[in-house]
Amino acid sequence: MISFTFDDAPMSAATTGADVLEARGFRGTFYLSGGLVAREDDRHRYVSAEQVVRLARVGHEIGCHTYSHRACGRASPREVRAEVERNGAALARLGVPAPATFAFPFGDVSTSAKRALGGEFSLLRAVHHGIIEAGGDLNQAPAVPVYGASGETAARRWLEVAKARRAWLIVFTHDVAPLPSAFGCTPGALERLLVAALESDFDVVTVAEGARRMRPLRA
Ligand SMILES: [Zn+2]
Repeated sequence: MISFTFDDAPMSAATTGADVLEARGFRGTFYLSGGLVAREDDRHRYVSAEQVVRLARVGHEIGCHTYSHRACGRASPREVRAEVERNGAALARLGVPAPATFAFPFGDVSTSAKRALGGEFSLLRAVHHGIIEAGGDLNQAPAVPVYGASGETAARRWLEVAKARRAWLIVFTHDVAPLPSAFGCTPGALERLLVAALESDFDVVTVAEGARRMRPLRA
C-alpha cells in the first residue's frame, strides 16, 4: 500500500495536490490544524473551511494534527489531549467526520504523548523514514517526505523498498506547486510517484484505510 498525506495544510495541497490524486480516482489524507484553517502566514495560505468540507465530501481523509500546531514531545499528556480535543471540536464544527488518525507536528514524539493518544486514533504518524510492516508500531508510524532537493528520489527509493518487502509506505508533503516551498513538492513529483506506485501494483489508500487493513496483523 501507499498513502499520500498532506500536513497542516496549505491551500495548494487541497487544490493542486488533491487534483493529482482525484484525476486517477484516488484519495489522500490531510492532517489539519484547526488553528491554521483559513489563515495565512509568511509561508503559506492555508485551506479554507469550504475546502476542508469539499475534501471530506469527496472522500479524502481529514486527519488530526494539534490545533495550534504545537509539538507534542515536551507537552504534558494533558496539554496534548487538550490540543487534540480542541482540534476535533474545530473539525466537528465544519461537519467533517471525527478524525481516525493523527500526525505528530514536526514528528515530535514522546512516550507520554503516544500513550495519551494511542487509544484515540487507529494510527499516529511520525516523520522518521521507513515503511510499515506487520507488527510495526502504529503509534509511531514512519513516513517519508516528498520535498527538498532529494525528496522525490528518496521517496522513489522507499517505494522500491516497500515493493520488495510488500510493506506500506506513507509519504508526506505540505504545499504542492510548480515552485514549492522547501517543505512542498511539485505536482509533477507527486504524479510521478503515484504512477510509479501504480505500475508496481500498489494499492493507494488513505491512512485510516491502511490502518484498518493492518489491524488484523498487529502484533
Ligand atoms: Zn505540521
